[in-house]
Amino acid sequence: MADVLERWGLRGVINASGTMTVLGASRMLPEVAAEMAAISGHFVRIADLQKLAEAEIVATTGAEAGFVTCSSAAALTLCVAAAITGPDLAAIEALPDRGGREGRVAVQMGQMIDYGATVAQGIALAGASVVPLGSAARCEIYHLQAALDAGLAAVVHVVSHHTVREGELPLDLVTEACAAHGVPVIVDMASEYDMTGPVALGAAAAIWSGHKFLSGPTSGIVAGRRDFVRAVALQNRGIGRGMKIGKEGILGAAAALAAWRRRDHAAAKAREEAIVAGWLQALDGLPGVALSLCPDWTGNPITRLELRITPEAAGLFAWELAERLMAGDPAVALRDDLAEHQRLYLDPCNLTADEAGTVARAIRATLATARDKGDGCRQSWSDVKRARGILPGGPA
Ligand SMILES: *Cc1c(COP(=O)(O)O)cnc(C)c1O
Repeated sequence: MADVLERWGLRGVINASGTMTVLGASRMLPEVAAEMAAISGHFVRIADLQKLAEAEIVATTGAEAGFVTCSSAAALTLCVAAAITGPDLAAIEALPDRGGREGRVAVQMGQMIDYGATVAQGIALAGASVVPLGSAARCEIYHLQAALDAGLAAVVHVVSHHTVREGELPLDLVTEACAAHGVPVIVDMASEYDMTGPVALGAAAAIWSGHKFLSGPTSGIVAGRRDFVRAVALQNRGIGRGMKIGKEGILGAAAALAAWRRRDHAAAKAREEAIVAGWLQALDGLPGVALSLCPDWTGNPITRLELRITPEAAGLFAWELAERLMAGDPAVALRDDLAEHQRLYLDPCNLTADEAGTVARAIRATLATARDKGDGCRQSWSDVKRARGILPGGPA
């Protein structure tokens, strides 16, 4: 398998950052890849594939209906479109012009995140206008109530480690308030292991990425109410045309869902815990690096290792360490979304035991070299931001 990298002159990355789509998200399960290869040489009715995928979605989520699109980002846009048009084909064909239809879509301000592109743009693409609720770190029932009273096509609720970690209105209160107004709630939980919660709480639709924890191909899984999901599927005759998924992706997503239900989750967690325990030992005693265990904050069953850097002692700022590791041989990606606070995280979920050992050795070696040469603590955080603002394709 390493041959493919050589054949195409690609530089592999050891991924200790988690399911990052910019790095290829996850390691696909071999049985999923096999099904995708197997179907690629056949003609079938796509509707038949969607039907079998729907059965897997229903069995996994407990929803009435399901549909597969090309990504969660696409699924978000198509769910918003469905909330605006319903099953009206003329309205579907007219989007993003929504004519006189209600197009206001509310999102809590603290959930207006960026997953590589913004939630706000994903909503606006369907012709909707975004109504922010509350402020960055506080959203109350009355914020939502006022928006409902003024009229809404939908509420989008985002569950993610990117959201502001305080003051959110919980999903059960959102669905409760929206139900009283007949307004659908669309839950984007692309990266969350919980596949039954949102539908049980009354969401009209919930969205997951097939390529993240499910270890399937790039795809977006929609589960929800039958009428709503039908309106989502019909969007493929409108703005969804450019977001459709092929036969390999639909079957791959279905196979990944089936594998998820069969997976020995306890064994997978034990394997990850062994990796983190190995890191705790291998990185113990590094100058300027404090280690601690960090449970995933949205409740996914992942415990990561936190590295808290004291730059004067470590010889590098956290962002310099992450950047040098990525530029190293082999390239190693750490989770660096809190690097500006001198915190880095090691995520075990995409690693073999061998790779995990390589990650620890690379961190030790990079820090030792920086201390010997004394060439660290040069690039300030403002330098990083300046470079990101100027260079296209900068770190994502
Ligand atoms: C990853 C992610 C997305 C985007 O998912 P894709 O399937 O790659 O489009 C959207 N929302 C959230 C919360 C995510 O974590």
